Amino acid sequence: MAISTCSASVTRLPRASGARNDNYPALINCRQPCKQLPMRLSQFPVSTTKETPADAEIISHQLMLRAGLIRRLSSGLYSWMPIGLRVLQKVSAIVREEMNAAGCVELLMPSVHPAELWQESGRWNQMGSELLRMRDRHDRDFCYGPTHEEVICHHFRQDVRSYKQLPVTYYQIQTKFRDEIRPRFGVMRSREFLMKDAYSFHTGAASLSETYDRMRVAYQRIFERIGVDYRVVEADSGNIGGAKSEEFHVLAEAGEDLLAVSDSGNYAANIEAASTHAVPGKRAEPGDAMQQVETPGKKTIEAVARHLKVDPTDCVKTLIVMGVNDNPVALVLRGDHELNEVKAAKHPLVRQPLSFMAEDALKAQLGAGAGSIGPVGLNCPVIADHAAVACANFVCGANVDDMHRVHVNWGRDLPEPEAADLRNAVAGDPSPSGEGKLRMVRGIEVGHIFQLGSKYTEAMSISVLDADGKECTPQMGCYGVGVTRIVGAAIEQSHDGDGIVWPPAIAPFTALITPINLAKSEKTRIAAEALYKALTEAGFDVLLDDRGLRPGVMFADADLIGIPHRITIGERGLDKGIFEYKHRRDTDARDIAANADAVLDILRS
Ligand code: ATP
Ligand code: MG
Repeated sequence: MAISTCSASVTRLPRASGARNDNYPALINCRQPCKQLPMRLSQFPVSTTKETPADAEIISHQLMLRAGLIRRLSSGLYSWMPIGLRVLQKVSAIVREEMNAAGCVELLMPSVHPAELWQESGRWNQMGSELLRMRDRHDRDFCYGPTHEEVICHHFRQDVRSYKQLPVTYYQIQTKFRDEIRPRFGVMRSREFLMKDAYSFHTGAASLSETYDRMRVAYQRIFERIGVDYRVVEADSGNIGGAKSEEFHVLAEAGEDLLAVSDSGNYAANIEAASTHAVPGKRAEPGDAMQQVETPGKKTIEAVARHLKVDPTDCVKTLIVMGVNDNPVALVLRGDHELNEVKAAKHPLVRQPLSFMAEDALKAQLGAGAGSIGPVGLNCPVIADHAAVACANFVCGANVDDMHRVHVNWGRDLPEPEAADLRNAVAGDPSPSGEGKLRMVRGIEVGHIFQLGSKYTEAMSISVLDADGKECTPQMGCYGVGVTRIVGAAIEQSHDGDGIVWPPAIAPFTALITPINLAKSEKTRIAAEALYKALTEAGFDVLLDDRGLRPGVMFADADLIGIPHRITIGERGLDKGIFEYKHRRDTDARDIAANADAVLDILRS
């Protein structure tokens, strides 16, 4: 898919002649960022609507559809319409410039991959249904690439043999397909999307770390240039593997990710990765003897706590998950806390991917359903979150349906458990950095950088010769930017009741000229054309609304599409020597001198 193709020049290529025509760029160059051409709305189809599309849950999705940036083809599949594509190309151009400036080299890999490479890395089986698989006419298995570690490793081992060729960082801006379980929010979580993915190779950890830091700075520059409010957060590296990893999040209420951010100091982490620690101080002394009480029909902590007139913080909940040998493992949390599934799945006794024991298996093996399970007398490993270990005289399930135990104490009524970090951090927790307390904000993940180490290079048996002529396994890093997701995220952060308010760097056009009564006023037409020409020659992306529509319609479209600068030209103003100027963020228009220089001064300021 030629996302950044300069389609105008492609369609104008001469047809029959085999001779090269130097007036036309060679096709091979068409993926290069091309200078955006100015446009007249009469020749540039933009289809806007007033109605809020019923299936669009969040504002950015609604506005992208209403402003005609994208059109839905099928679940999680969107076409980028001409005006939307301009935005996508501007984002891509910034990403490409910063990757080049960081010393990365561009290449382009296929979106369809042979299964053998994924079998070699082990991810053919690990990935599950997110990997879209297909079979060709020769009955060979392929998949649509959700990411490209396997393919780049394959090319690396074909071409690179010596430490002298390292370090090297390859990147591409290319279409991915992930059969997301729940595609939603338009291009924010789609099935097909455009990603910038980069892969670096090194002879040692120090070189990897150096490139990782450089990519981190390049990412900061990308998001600063695009003009979004973002945070860099510690992250879990997920199924991609490896050690250090950080995510870049655009802060927005609609974000799918919860981030734990310190109220003082720099700590910020995705909730998946935000660590929690042992509660300082001594546990309260055991009091009354343990006792079994009836809790008929009370299956949740809230219901049990209300019934027994205790606080949820005085209860513990016990979740039974499958262990590595298919035996049950009990995970115990304080009643008001939630299990962090990412942390739990990393425990050496717990089977990956995390799976909870089914209700009938619970009853058969442990004697009670999920609502009545507790750690006393359980014949399986018991791992308790630090906060649950700090509980004394607590309430827990009795392993008998509709029964609970009260006044339970670790060490007295059951063995001290293994303590671990199993829960989601909550607002008010001390920051793991030791500075301040955590607060929770929501974010949209737009970038992710990883130090992969040798996970893929080992799995794919890659080696290079080091300075001593010995074979060594290269270290690897990978770095992703969600190019299409950035567009939605930017809108999520920058809009008002009338439409999109583009950050200038990614606006589809910089300026919009709205002439009033164009068809009837020759004077207006001449002034509008002259301004259009002058701004274009000065190098600005200009859109001329020459559709001859009523001012109200033109202005409503202008606000919906969100072009930063609007210049209105009308005969009455021209008679007084003025244009009307309105920045998209302004509420009212103001008069400026009716000449191109006055407009250019504003555009350049
Ligand atoms: P998520 O947790 O949102 O699924 P991920 O961790 O799977 O993201 P990566 O594999 O790190 O994502 O991919 C790199 C970038 O690609 C992400 O930071 C995100 O911006 C973008 N991305 C991932 N999945 C999607 C998707 N379904 N739709 C649009 N963009 C996506
Ligand atoms: Mg994902």
